[in-house]
Amino acid sequence: MEGFMDALRLLQFEEYGAIAQFTRSDAPGASCDSFSSLNLGLHVGDDPEVVQKNRRIAADIAGISETRIVYAEQVHGARVAVVHADDAGRGAFDTADAIKGVDGLVSTARGLLLAILAADCTPVLFYDPYAGVIGAAHAGWKGTAQGVVMETIKEMKKLGANPEDMLVALGPAIRGCCYEVDQPVTDALEDMYRKLATREPIPFRVSERAAERTMVDLPTLARLQAEQLGVPHGQVIDTSICTHCMPGFFSHRKLRGKAGRHAGFIAIKPRRLSLRGRMR
Ligand SMILES: [Zn+2]
Repeated sequence: MEGFMDALRLLQFEEYGAIAQFTRSDAPGASCDSFSSLNLGLHVGDDPEVVQKNRRIAADIAGISETRIVYAEQVHGARVAVVHADDAGRGAFDTADAIKGVDGLVSTARGLLLAILAADCTPVLFYDPYAGVIGAAHAGWKGTAQGVVMETIKEMKKLGANPEDMLVALGPAIRGCCYEVDQPVTDALEDMYRKLATREPIPFRVSERAAERTMVDLPTLARLQAEQLGVPHGQVIDTSICTHCMPGFFSHRKLRGKAGRHAGFIAIKPRRLSLRGRMR
């Protein structure tokens, strides 16, 4: 159970041979003040050398080399890239070489860790253990409105994944208890919701504080998108953590833009060297 308290591990994914976890802001890292302590965001105003140290710590907790991690640029869109073994390390040491223009990454490469950074937006992890396909997506309100979760699943299908076999995890995010949005955001998310075949009510409620504002639960919209593409309800794991009113994760809104970033990590575990293999 080593490292259990340092990251929120997804045991359902691990059971099927994946590394899947959400890093915690309160894991022992090197950052101070509002970035305390395991900030993994290089572009949030924290000392880059300290962030690099934190990224090494996070890689150790996940049990994978930091040189095997791939980051997406994350532009609040819905484009998804297929990444391969030779993309290992992209964005890990320099944000300038992260995978450009995408908010979703998918892969079949064993031992390659896909990383999504967030602080209120929903990090979403995907795994089809039978087809050996993984995915990771960054779903803030803009990406959610553009259907980034559905786009990620579509790209995974092209690699042979079957939504019926997929596990999907919704990471810590600002939830309906705290996420108050204005009319344009409400309208954009409502438009997306109307295109879904769900019979579930829209996860909005009226703000008690301001009549022209609405409380929205983004992770529920992410789940409905996964279900729209055929992922069974019981295979969507919702961590149910609100970054804004619960401890342990960064909240952009709560820290008024001075927040660090936690990460969603997913990899298909590298094969262990077998002794028998070596003897031959
Ligand atoms: Zn909350």
